[in-house]
Amino acid sequence: MRFVSLYLTRLTVLMVCLLPLGAASAASQTLSEGWEYRWGDSPFRNDGTPAWTLDGPGEDGWRSIGFPSNPPNRDGREHVWFRVMLPDGEWQEPVLYIFSVDLIVQVYFDGQKIYQYGTFDEQGRGRFEGWPWHEISLPDGFEGKYLYFRVFSDYTDIGLWGEVSIMNRPDLVLFVLENSLEALVIAAISMLIGLLALIFAVLQAKKKSFASLALFAFSSGTMLLAESQASQLLWDVPLVWDYLAAASYYLLPVAMAMLLEQWLADHRPRMINLVWKVHLAYVVAAIGLSLSGAINLSSTFPPFDALFLVSLVTITVAVIYRFRHLLLEQRIILLAYAIFSVFLVVDMAVAHGLLPWGRVPVSWGALLFALAVVVISLWHYARTQQALYRLTLSLEQQVAERTEKAETLARREQARVRLLTFENEKKQILNDIIAGLQDCLGLSQAFDYLARVMLDLCSPVSGAFYLRRDEGKTYERLNHWGYGGNMPEFALILDTSGGLPSPTEVPSRYRETPLDSVTSQDQVLEGTVCFWITVQSASEGALVMGLLLVEIPENFSAQDNGYGAARLFHALDQGLQRIGITLSSIRLHEELQKYSYEDVLTGLNNRRYFDQLLKHERAGAVRNQVPLALLIVDIDHFKLFNDTHGHEAGDSALKTVAGVLLQQFRDSDVVCRYGGEEFVVIMPGANLSAAREKAENLCRAIRTVHIYHGDQDLGGVTLSVGVAGWPECSNDPDALLGLADRALYRAKEGGRDRIEGCSTCTPP
Ligand code: GH3
Ligand code: MG
Ligand code: MG
Repeated sequence: MRFVSLYLTRLTVLMVCLLPLGAASAASQTLSEGWEYRWGDSPFRNDGTPAWTLDGPGEDGWRSIGFPSNPPNRDGREHVWFRVMLPDGEWQEPVLYIFSVDLIVQVYFDGQKIYQYGTFDEQGRGRFEGWPWHEISLPDGFEGKYLYFRVFSDYTDIGLWGEVSIMNRPDLVLFVLENSLEALVIAAISMLIGLLALIFAVLQAKKKSFASLALFAFSSGTMLLAESQASQLLWDVPLVWDYLAAASYYLLPVAMAMLLEQWLADHRPRMINLVWKVHLAYVVAAIGLSLSGAINLSSTFPPFDALFLVSLVTITVAVIYRFRHLLLEQRIILLAYAIFSVFLVVDMAVAHGLLPWGRVPVSWGALLFALAVVVISLWHYARTQQALYRLTLSLEQQVAERTEKAETLARREQARVRLLTFENEKKQILNDIIAGLQDCLGLSQAFDYLARVMLDLCSPVSGAFYLRRDEGKTYERLNHWGYGGNMPEFALILDTSGGLPSPTEVPSRYRETPLDSVTSQDQVLEGTVCFWITVQSASEGALVMGLLLVEIPENFSAQDNGYGAARLFHALDQGLQRIGITLSSIRLHEELQKYSYEDVLTGLNNRRYFDQLLKHERAGAVRNQVPLALLIVDIDHFKLFNDTHGHEAGDSALKTVAGVLLQQFRDSDVVCRYGGEEFVVIMPGANLSAAREKAENLCRAIRTVHIYHGDQDLGGVTLSVGVAGWPECSNDPDALLGLADRALYRAKEGGRDRIEGCSTCTPP
């Protein structure tokens, strides 16, 4: 890279110098006639003067020749002398310009050596030292005198080469620069392209193609520069330039074959692979051997030229064979290369003397190639940019789509987590409610509790909770929460005349309700939903005991696309079903309990109930230090009544007496059927005299009552009552029942239809 940049800097400087000189034309005189040659080497006199330089005109041995190069009948000879008579002319600082010499030369004037290129040994032999152009200063008074050239060459060519002319020294520099201008500019362009291709090779995916292109461009650039005559002005080391020129020239087919191999990679081009490997081997061998001194660099050119022609034919055949598989741009580059190759072949032909000498515009071939690469690269670049732009657009779109999808997923996931949390909370609340319900003693307590906690189950939605009243004709609002704006404030009237409504019918059976629009349990209309709680009863079957109306705030359903609301409804529905089941079990339990404590005939509490209650009340009385009174009531001569009117009439009598008892003892007193025709009344807080008074009232009341069995008036019955009170009758409340029983016994004994207490119960 340092080398390339050095090149480029120097080239730029040169070109800047050249620009104003573009049109300059050098005044020169070509030495195109009067040349003579003589095979062999001149003997030298003792003073070092070559004997042949002393020959006059017409001397034997000298033969005329058109141009001092490759005289006829060489016969393997390596020495030749040329001479020419220098013409007259107007010169300021005359120099002789020679395009090049094969291979080394000494120039003599007046028997004196005035110029030498290369080193001559004792035998007059020497090594190849490059093909520079030569500038030989002519001494004063040269006009009309001979100038002698002693030439040695073991190369295919021998002699001077190209052009030989006399010109003024300053004109020579201009002449050289002018001749090189084209090649220098094109070399610079090639180098630039090589640099670009190198950058692409590093950055792009098609590394090998770009690397091959870079190699080609650098090679052709270097070749043009090295072969240009101006290179000698840049750095006067002809052999180095020739090595560079040879190496770069030899590398051209390597680069081209490598490039082709990349393009045709799908077809496994073995021949092309062979071509670049052979050429690469040739470069290494030729330059290596020349540098090592084993051979002369000049001798590596003819074999290369032969090899190059073979390769060219091979490549051409391969390309023609696969031309249709190549892209348009590849075809264009190949065409440029073909033209370049033609120039190279013509140049080769001139070099070998097959064509007359002339400057072959090899640089134009290189320029053509360079331009083809530039145009195609730009075209490629534009296409790549377009593709990149499209790719970026589609990528951006994809990224946006994916981001949106991911966000939607995340939102959905968040909502799901919220819902799960929500559902878990609700489940927990429901479990608590069920546990709370199980602690309730009866259905009414359970509904009071439900009315309080229902808002926990329903939050965040507003709602109201209703309880069945009047055998299901109305539903009374027990509680409401949240906004409750749509909730009916007054009782809902449910028409159950046609039997228990099926769940979907419930709302449509409302009368005087603002919820006409609600038509099914799960349907959300105007933001309100109706649920109900069905309770199973042993005696009445399924009953809609409770109603739940919930109002859904709009943002709640919108936030989760209604999903949350649906979940909530589902959870509520399930929850209410569980609550219904729990309530049913409470209800059944309540009913069972009622049956076990109730006397079926009279509806009064039975003896089991009495026993438990008495225990409870005795303890309460002692604890609270309040009096407790107890009455035992027995129907007089009931056996006779039964015997007289029959057992069923006796049952009617028992019911009638029970009714009177319930009338007489309301409030806190508890009436129980003790068994048969005996009843007991517990009077918590009543002292003995108050109990007696009540008992008297009872006896008095029963006397006025007629017993009916169907339409038949069976007359009345009388009662005997035993009364005991704590603490009046005994210090031991447990003794009360026995005391009252004994008092009853005394009442029977005393004639019946009377009251006896600890002291005598006076009949009315
Ligand atoms: P006293 O005045 O001494 O109490 O005489 P009494 O006949 O009432 O007493 P007794 O104990 O001799 O008879 C009670 C009768 O009550 C006997 C039985 O037939 C009747 N009795 C008991 N339970 C029922 C019942 O559930 N229905 C009917 N119809 N009679 C019953
Ligand atoms: Mg009795
Ligand atoms: Mg009796």
